Amino acid sequence: MNMAEYHEEDRMALNFKQDLTAVFGHPVAENPTQVMAEAAYVHHDLNWRYLTVEVLPEDLPAAVAGARAMGFGGFNLTIPHKVAVIPHLDGLGESAEVIGAVNCVVRRGEKLIGENTDGRGFLESLREVIDPRGARVTMIGAGGAARAIAVELALAGATSVTIINRSEKRGAELVEYLQNRLDCEVTRAPWSSAISVPNGTDVLINATSIGLYPDVTGCPPVDFTSVPKDTVVADVIPNPPRTPFLEGAAKRGCRTIDGLGMLINQGRIGITYWTGVNPDPTVMRTALEAVFAD
Ligand code: NDP
Repeated sequence: MNMAEYHEEDRMALNFKQDLTAVFGHPVAENPTQVMAEAAYVHHDLNWRYLTVEVLPEDLPAAVAGARAMGFGGFNLTIPHKVAVIPHLDGLGESAEVIGAVNCVVRRGEKLIGENTDGRGFLESLREVIDPRGARVTMIGAGGAARAIAVELALAGATSVTIINRSEKRGAELVEYLQNRLDCEVTRAPWSSAISVPNGTDVLINATSIGLYPDVTGCPPVDFTSVPKDTVVADVIPNPPRTPFLEGAAKRGCRTIDGLGMLINQGRIGITYWTGVNPDPTVMRTALEAVFAD
C-alpha cells in the first residue's frame, strides 16, 4: 500500500494522527505563517497541523526526504531554501517553473510538486481592485518577490512591467530574465532619491523590503507628485500592513493594497492545495493582525 492509499484508509478509521504541514527556513522563528494556517485549520475543523521548522541549508535534502517519508501533505519554503529545494522535488507547477523558485510544496499522490504562490497571492489581492489584463505596471525592487509578481502579472495579461531597483546590476539581471521568458514588455527605469513614476502607470508596487518591521518608518523614495491619482498602489510588506509608502499613496488620493492581503492569499492558496478546503481569509487575517498588534 502506498502513502496516498494509506492516508485514504486512515481517514475512515478512529484517528489520533494529524496531517502535517510546515515551513522550512533559516532563520524561521519569526515567520508567522503557522498562526494563520492553524487558525484556518481550527476554523474549518481540519485535523491538520502546521509546524515552524528550523532547517539549515546543508540539512534541506534530509528535511525534504523526512517530510516525504512522514507523509506530509506539503510544506512551505522560505529563505534560503526557495531555489535549493528544486532538485529534491518530483516536478514544478507553471509559475514555479518560470519564476525558478518554490515557496510551496504539494503532495500529489506519491509526488512532491513545487509551486510558487507568492505572485499568485499578490495577484488575488490586486484583482479585488483592478483587472491586471492590459495594465502598465511599475515595480520598485528586483528580488524574489518582484520576480514572482512580475511573472504572474505577465501571465495574467499585463501589457508592460517597468523595474526600478537600487542595485542597477540586479535590476538589469531581472529585466533580462523576464524578457527571455515572458510575453510582456519589460523595461528598466532609473533609481534616484526622488523616483519619478513613468507616465501611464496603472499599478505601482513596492516589492522591496523597505518598510518591513522594525524599519517601520522606511519608504521607497517615490516622488508622489509624479503618480497619477488613478494609479493603484500596492505594497508587499505584511508587517506593518499600513506602511509609509501606502500612506503617501493614500494622501495622493490613490487606491492602496497592503502586503498582509498578499501574505494571506498565498497562505490560502497553499492550504487549498494541501487540504482541498478553501479557507476563510477573514479568520486568517484576524489571527495575523492579533500577533502583529502584539
Ligand atoms: P530580496 O532580498 O530577494 O530582495 C530585496 C529587494 O529590496 C531588492 O530589490 C533590494 O534592492 C531592495 N532593498 C532592500 N533594502 C533596500 C534599501 N534600503 N533601499 C533600496 N532597496 C532596498 O527579498 P524578497 O524579494 O524575497 O522580499 C522582499 C520583501 O517582500 C520582503 O520584505 C518580504 O517580507 C516581502 N514579501 C512579502 C510577501 C507577502 O506575502 N506579503 C511574500 C514574499 C515576500 P537591491 O537589489 O538594491 O539590494
